[in-house]
Amino acid sequence: MVSCAVFIMDVLRKGWFTESCEMWPGGTFSFEVKEVLYKEKSQYQDIFVCDTKNFGRALVLDGIIQCTEKDEFSYQEMISFLPLCCHKNPEKVLIVGGGDGGVAREVAKHPKVKEIVQVEIDAKVIEVSKKYLPFMAVGFDSKKLTLHVGDGFEFMKNHSREFDVIITDSSDPVGPAVNLFQENYFALMKSALKPNGIVCSQAGTFWNDLELVTNTLQFCRNQFPAAAYAYASVPTYPSGLIGFVIGSLDPNVKFDSPQITFTKEEERQMNLRYYNSDIHKAAFTLPSFIRNQLA
Ligand code: SAM
Repeated sequence: MVSCAVFIMDVLRKGWFTESCEMWPGGTFSFEVKEVLYKEKSQYQDIFVCDTKNFGRALVLDGIIQCTEKDEFSYQEMISFLPLCCHKNPEKVLIVGGGDGGVAREVAKHPKVKEIVQVEIDAKVIEVSKKYLPFMAVGFDSKKLTLHVGDGFEFMKNHSREFDVIITDSSDPVGPAVNLFQENYFALMKSALKPNGIVCSQAGTFWNDLELVTNTLQFCRNQFPAAAYAYASVPTYPSGLIGFVIGSLDPNVKFDSPQITFTKEEERQMNLRYYNSDIHKAAFTLPSFIRNQLA
C-alpha cells in the first residue's frame, strides 16, 4: 500500500507545503502558503485547503496536490474535452471522482452534452470545495448535473450501456482511488458505455511513474479496441505534467483528430483557456522514449 506523508506541521511551522509520496521518491514540489483555510480528516482522506503565494487556492488530499487555482483549468479542460471531442455526439456523460467540481464545470460547457451524472466518494470534498474553491465548485450548479455520493467502482457495476463518455477524475492510486486504476474497472466502464462510447482516466505522468502509465494503458488496451495516452502541462503536478488514458469502443476512432472543432469565438464564449483543436492533436504526440515504451 502506497503512503503519502502529510507535512501539515511544516506548513504551520515554516510556511511551506511540501508534497511527498512513495509514488515519486527522491524529489518533491513545494509551495509557500499564505493561509491555511481548512484541514481535517474525512471518512476517506486528509483534506487540506490553503491559499498559496503563487498558485492561488489549493486542494490537497492525503498530502497530494489535487488542484490549484492558477493551473487547474489545464487539467480540467483536457480531461474533459479530449474525450468529448473524440465522440460524435456525447449526450450523456459520467464523471467519477471530481469532488472539486472542475470537470463538471467543463463538461457542462460542451454544446452536445445534455446530461451529466457524477459519482464522488467523499461528500466532505464536495462540501469543502463549495466553501473554499467556488471557481471550480461552480460546476455543481449545472442544471445538466445529477450528483451522487458513493464509490465509482461500485456504481459502475449497476450501470449498463448508459453513457457516451466516462471521465475518471480520480485522485492518484492511493486510498479509495486504488480500484479505479485496475483492469476490472476498465471492464466495468466498457459495460457501462453505449456503442462507440469513450473513457478517459487520469493516468499519471511518464517522468514520475512510467509503470503506472504503462499498466493503465495496457488495462485499457485489454478491454477496448482503441486506446491511447495523451498529456498536458500542469505545473503543480509531479514533473509538471499529467497524463490521460483514453479508450474507445469504436475501433476506427482517430483520437488525434477531433470530431468537433470550435471557432475562436466559441472557445472564448466557453472560456477555454488551454484546450483547442491544435493542442488536442498535439496531446497525443509522444516523445520517442515514451512512444517506444508504450508501443
Ligand atoms: N485533478 C485531481 C488529480 O488528478 O489529482 C483529481 C481531483 S478530484 C478532487 C479526485 C477525487 O476522486 C477526490 O475528491 C476523491 O474523493 C475522489 N475519489 C477517489 N476514489 C474514488 C472512488 N473510488 N469513487 C469516487 N470518487 C473517488
